[in-house]
Amino acid sequence: MTGWTVASWAGVAAEHPFGLRTLPYGVFTDAARPRPRIGVAVGEAILDLTAASAALLPEHAALLRGGNLDALLAAGRRSWTAIRAALTHWLTDELHSEVLAPLLVPSTDATMLLPFTVADYVDFYSCEQHATDIGRILRPGQPALPANWRHLPVGYHGRAGTVVVSGTPVSRPSGQRRLPDGTVTFGPSTALDFEAEVGFVVGTPSAAGRPVPLTDLAEHVFGVCLVNDWSARDIQAWEYVPLGPLLGKSFATSISPWVVPLDALGAARIQPPVRDPHPLPYLDDTGTEPWGLDITLEVALNDQLISRPPLRGMYWTAAQQLAHLTVNGARLRTGDLFASGTVSGAAPDERGSLLELSWNGTAPLTLADGSTRSFLADGDEVSITATAPGPEGTIVGLGEVRGRISPSYTVTADRVHDSCPSGRRETYD
Ligand code: CA
Repeated sequence: MTGWTVASWAGVAAEHPFGLRTLPYGVFTDAARPRPRIGVAVGEAILDLTAASAALLPEHAALLRGGNLDALLAAGRRSWTAIRAALTHWLTDELHSEVLAPLLVPSTDATMLLPFTVADYVDFYSCEQHATDIGRILRPGQPALPANWRHLPVGYHGRAGTVVVSGTPVSRPSGQRRLPDGTVTFGPSTALDFEAEVGFVVGTPSAAGRPVPLTDLAEHVFGVCLVNDWSARDIQAWEYVPLGPLLGKSFATSISPWVVPLDALGAARIQPPVRDPHPLPYLDDTGTEPWGLDITLEVALNDQLISRPPLRGMYWTAAQQLAHLTVNGARLRTGDLFASGTVSGAAPDERGSLLELSWNGTAPLTLADGSTRSFLADGDEVSITATAPGPEGTIVGLGEVRGRISPSYTVTADRVHDSCPSGRRETYD
């Protein structure tokens, strides 16, 4: 079977991260296609799947009409499997090249859009190394991990409406913060950070009141994307007690434009670490198919590699996170996005946030141009990429999530006046 991994008439190399073992889905436009189409990345090209399915897969064409991936996500695993099998067949069988070759467009000519309607967004905190680093930085002298951490996947509900696609500029947030002398002030964040994470995209919904067991991950989750959970550490530090993050996280979350099907990650599945204490039964994955994932992320700041966080040691898996999310009876919706939490490894160059890389500013990072960073400066661009092992020595790529920081729009008294309709101006005087 080795032959067919390389024998594509489309000319994609077997070792390309978007080779035939990846086949991620996204939504794009280009000069000839102003209406958003569903695309599949094939090497350096994008197959216009909306057009291809109309010609070759009429029974599934309604799921692939374009706009976004929502109908495909909702269709469920049987359809996902059938469409992926068709794609693999088309791209390896020369017979289809005549129809499909004209539907391959250079990815450099395409504009990628937010691939699906984000329903709910939940962010976890499931990396033991990251949680330990944060505990040591922010609560020195106390136990690094909160008492609940090894009993349940800690998480919070984020803001789905501010999830943006890679490439969208991120405006520096403003908010309240408390200065070391106790003064409470307002202004642009002075501690803006990234968080390198992997996101899981829910396709098949679940019924209210019916928990999803951890053995059913693949029935509900369509695939994965990369997540940059931008975080304003100063705003977060002041607001988060007692109910968790709010404005320090909600201004923007960036995701990669390509959703890699769970089917592409079969060779990356590994045993998760041993848990101590033993989890409660609904979180006990002993003897089940493993959902540890051997994915390696790479973080670049202004195109300089600064970290390679490994997902492989994650304490809580996506299957456990999903089981936990629904154990109270909360239902899943198509488009729900839940993220792993910041991924950090034990080595200093495996840390998934600047808070850890600069150890909260006590050890600033020196960049190649000689400048230093404790947190992000205006104009800084963060890129997160990732790869996983594929079958037969191939590589499965997760693409890239990229975002540049633009200066804050600070709400000053003058601007409040300027933006206020004249009839109501007295309200502000
Ligand atoms: Ca996070």
